[in-house]
Amino acid sequence: MDGNVIRDIFVIGGGINGCGIARDAAGRGYSVVLAEMKDFASGTSSASTKLIHGGLRYLEHYEFRLVREALMEREVLWAMAPHVIWPMRFVLPFQKGGPRPAWLIRLGLFLYDYIGGRKLLPATSTVDLARDPAGGPLKKLFRKAFEYSDGWVDDARLVVLNARDAADRGADIRTGTKVVTARRENGHWSVETENVETGARETVRARMLVNAAGPWIDKVLSSAFGRNDVHNVRLVQGSHIVVKKKFSDPRAYFFQNPDGRIMFAIPYQEEFTLIGTTDRDYQGDPRDVRISDEEMRYLCASASEYFAEPVTRDDIVWTYSGVRPLFDDGASKAQEATRDYVLKVEGGDGQAPLLNIFGGKLTTYRRLAESALEKISESIGAKGDRWTATSRLPGGDFKVDGFDAEVKALSARFPFLAAAHARRLVRLYGTRASFLLEGVKSAADLGRHFGSDLYEREVRWLMKEEWARHAEDVLWRRTKRGLHLTAAEAAALEDYMAAAQAAPH
Ligand SMILES: Cc1cc2nc3c(=O)[nH]c(=O)nc-3n(C[C@H](O)[C@H](O)[C@H](O)COP(=O)(O)OP(=O)(O)OC[C@H]3O[C@@H](n4cnc5c(N)ncnc54)[C@H](O)[C@@H]3O)c2cc1C
Repeated sequence: MDGNVIRDIFVIGGGINGCGIARDAAGRGYSVVLAEMKDFASGTSSASTKLIHGGLRYLEHYEFRLVREALMEREVLWAMAPHVIWPMRFVLPFQKGGPRPAWLIRLGLFLYDYIGGRKLLPATSTVDLARDPAGGPLKKLFRKAFEYSDGWVDDARLVVLNARDAADRGADIRTGTKVVTARRENGHWSVETENVETGARETVRARMLVNAAGPWIDKVLSSAFGRNDVHNVRLVQGSHIVVKKKFSDPRAYFFQNPDGRIMFAIPYQEEFTLIGTTDRDYQGDPRDVRISDEEMRYLCASASEYFAEPVTRDDIVWTYSGVRPLFDDGASKAQEATRDYVLKVEGGDGQAPLLNIFGGKLTTYRRLAESALEKISESIGAKGDRWTATSRLPGGDFKVDGFDAEVKALSARFPFLAAAHARRLVRLYGTRASFLLEGVKSAADLGRHFGSDLYEREVRWLMKEEWARHAEDVLWRRTKRGLHLTAAEAAALEDYMAAAQAAPH
């Protein structure tokens, strides 16, 4: 990178917010550099409940602005990336004496249906659990439920697709690159980065800096900018468990716990059920966050209140934890802290500007990026207009209801693919699945087999097109094949990727 060139914008952090801002800015014609210290979505953005949702629960905290914006985004995002985002119905059982009266839930769902710009998503309905298959896996105590619409997202893929598109639009995107210092110099920023693998340092100059380091935002302000005593975000841990499939219905469940919290049980990766989440304040490095025994007990016990067959520790096949970087609004309980985002610009008037991004949801990332671009335009001058609302993310250029047709077309073109393999490739890569397989004429052409349905061809594509450097990037973020590979297979993949990177091109 030429240290003498001054870029328009330098983005710190390759989570959903950093990548969303980089994409929007590159599409408007700004020159953009993004540095991510580990891998895309290696922080909070791959540890979510994976819902594109209005947030029914936030209505209880009067977060109407956030809920409305999030609801409106559901169909916008679905159209942008119908391979990684799709609608999902949620069954919300209720009973007499439950944590909330049925009329209150119905009122919330009425608002949900009518303030959210719903066009294609079906409205709320009532379910008789004694007759509907959704009642099958539940305790007989639950007789009635509401059923409503929200969306599902492959969170880590949403992030990498934004990074890919930003790069396709000219952004300079770097992973394994940590920002170590940032100082103002002659009206611009001088940002020093470190390659985390080689230790090599580099200086990049930019007119504006965007701090989208999520739960590390305060840490970046103190370590890279030398600030003392920064307390802008409240770190709130949320953990999930993945268990063997508890039910075969495609709908998810929304459970209300006796402590007033809510929990989801969601069909996950064909063979599993995802259950979460918890909410508790967190201190420490976000990278070290792990589910605790107490959280595992809580999640198993809460789900067992609803399912006829209890969820036990032995059912757990995987867990993950993340840290919400919530703007610290002084709320007393972790679950009451605002989920809305706050953008703050520092500097200007001759001083190079810094934009700090606090909070935010996956669901609202596109709108957050638009708001960030407004601040950027005010600070360093406008370029381009809003453009992302009607855009497509890479591979998402097919009809919202066209997924099955895409799978059929891919299977016809590559008949040796097993049906589940073709489905998986379209889910991950959409219309780009056929580019990934370009020239492949038989199963043998897929190359080395790493386990499950993961082959060399896909791994190579992920290294070339999606910045994958380690087995973990492939197994837990670009795909979820980690759920199916053994430790020995994962180690063999790591060796293969290391050798492939060391080999001359
Ligand atoms: C348990 C849980 C459940 C959630 N569920 C949902 C949900 O269902 N739906 C929804 O819409 N939202 C959900 N969210 C919220 C959503 O996941 C987060 O708001 C969002 O992912 C935050 O993204 P981010 O880009 O701000 O942070 P991150 O994804 O953490 O990204 C920040 C990045 O900055 C990098 N970084 C830090 N310091 C440096 C540095 N010095 N140099 C370079 N890079 C650096 C990190 O490595 C990291 O990758 C959930 C969150 C949690 C924790």
